[in-house]
Amino acid sequence: MPAAVAAAARPPMKPLDEALADLLAHAVPLAGTDTVDTFDADGRVLAVAAISPLQVPPHDNSAMDGYAVRRADVAAPGAQLPVSQRIAAGSAGLPLATGTAARIFTGAPVPPGADAIVMQEDCQALEGDRVQVRAVPAIHQWIRRAGEDIALGAEVLAAGTRLTPAALGLAASIGLARLTVARRPRVALFSTGDELVMPGEVDPARMPPGAIYNSNRFFLRGLLRRLGCAVTDLGIVPDRREATLEALRGASLEHDLILTSGGVSVGEEDHVKPAVEALGRLDLWQIAMKPGKPFAHGRIGAAHFMGLPGNPVSSFMTFALLVRPFLLRLQGVQAVAPQSVAATADFDWPRADRRREFLRVRRNAAGGLDLFPHQGSGVLTSVAWGDGVVDTPAGQTIARGDTVRFISWAELQS
Ligand code: AMP
Ligand code: MG
Repeated sequence: MPAAVAAAARPPMKPLDEALADLLAHAVPLAGTDTVDTFDADGRVLAVAAISPLQVPPHDNSAMDGYAVRRADVAAPGAQLPVSQRIAAGSAGLPLATGTAARIFTGAPVPPGADAIVMQEDCQALEGDRVQVRAVPAIHQWIRRAGEDIALGAEVLAAGTRLTPAALGLAASIGLARLTVARRPRVALFSTGDELVMPGEVDPARMPPGAIYNSNRFFLRGLLRRLGCAVTDLGIVPDRREATLEALRGASLEHDLILTSGGVSVGEEDHVKPAVEALGRLDLWQIAMKPGKPFAHGRIGAAHFMGLPGNPVSSFMTFALLVRPFLLRLQGVQAVAPQSVAATADFDWPRADRRREFLRVRRNAAGGLDLFPHQGSGVLTSVAWGDGVVDTPAGQTIARGDTVRFISWAELQS
């Protein structure tokens, strides 16, 4: 058969963007919220906006250790003023008597009447509780104004925000001890493949012929946890129809998502597809991405189902680009697609692929990107070595110096 005919006979592949849009159309945000201690909310998704019940800072305060003055009392450098009071952080001063200065420390409230702070480096303390101000201050100098960070009633964190340590600090700064967050997606995870053994259970020196360690289980569990999921790890399910059916049936009762790796090709040892079809419904997509072609999604009862390819890098990338956005959307996050940035390739990639390709790369000190030399879909080293991927459009080659689109792991595995 001529090559052109063979190519045309291949089933059309689904563009990644289309696959993601289809998945997200099914991602109805989970009903129900949890109220958690702000200390424990890292990584959770805020369900109710955080509105500030106060202004931050709550009062005008000094940005420096120094002296609070009335600008009008310091007409020229060298003015001498009696020190009428001393105000430390945590105490409130009295109105500043005209013609005097207040000793003041960083964070302390600016006394009524004062309109500038002179830092202590620009002052000279004198005998008899007096101070010489050596520089004429600008009006409002070194005063942090009340509300300059947050106004009363301002929305500090929007609903749908994924909480970070900085966001927790911000919530605490407006007095929120507890936060209302989306409930955790309940995810059942299992691997298929009779070749798989668990580290710790089988010694590397005693691996049976054909056996490999189950690596997908480790990164998938870690990725799910980072996304705030409650993971039920069902381990390795044998390549048998009954065992697969049983695992799926049980998991479908109390989970929002069943996630599997392996067994979604169409070989005779691939039992996941027919088993899901027997219990619910399933679409098997050939996604035009490399690594990571087969991807299955469907439903069993109320549970979503997603089946990842078995090859570790394919499994990792389909999780990062499809499952991760889906799980974030279930928790109410709006912007779920990973953001790429422009970067310079410090490598050549002369082999264009008909699929959109995600090359594992690492940032170098010169600001460019280095390529991991082995880009095979089983080479997990490439993922652990790199800082992210170059998103390479189908049919495109790369020459050293080209501007490419870089997606950092922060966008994909956090
Ligand atoms: P499959 O998708 O089941 O045909 O698997 C494709 C390839 O990925 C095979 O070489 C499997 O041995 C390998 N594989 C499948 N599952 C895992 C896993 N959990 N950890 C490591 N490799 C796996
Ligand atoms: Mg298999």
